[in-house]
Amino acid sequence: MLTSAFGMVRRAERGNQANSDGVSENTKHNIRGCMCRHVHEGSLPVRQVIHHYDGFWEFNCGVEDHPDLDDFVGLCADCNRERLAAFKMLVDLQPGQWAQRASENDNKWELFLLPPEDQGA
Ligand SMILES: [Zn+2]
Ligand SMILES: [Zn+2]
Repeated sequence: MLTSAFGMVRRAERGNQANSDGVSENTKHNIRGCMCRHVHEGSLPVRQVIHHYDGFWEFNCGVEDHPDLDDFVGLCADCNRERLAAFKMLVDLQPGQWAQRASENDNKWELFLLPPEDQGA
């Protein structure tokens, strides 16, 4: 399940790059990661934080499946300063690490290492 989640993020990342190709320099967003639409909409709390080897961040609810690219929203560092600050207070991860917590009220994050295949581009 987790492996497929990582694969999904790869697709989402490519989607973000594709999107940024279409916008002019003036409106280019500073995409540093993505979040699932549940987190984006605030309908579910962040339960998984993934920091990919290439520096790309993912924040997701860890509850629902996210089968479609549409389930992820690009996380622009400029447009989401407050949100990003709140996320970074949750957990401080090195590239190649990801973390998960059991529930919204659980402040104990379990740390894991990404599979080696995440490193290959
Ligand atoms: Zn932006
Ligand atoms: Zn979600």
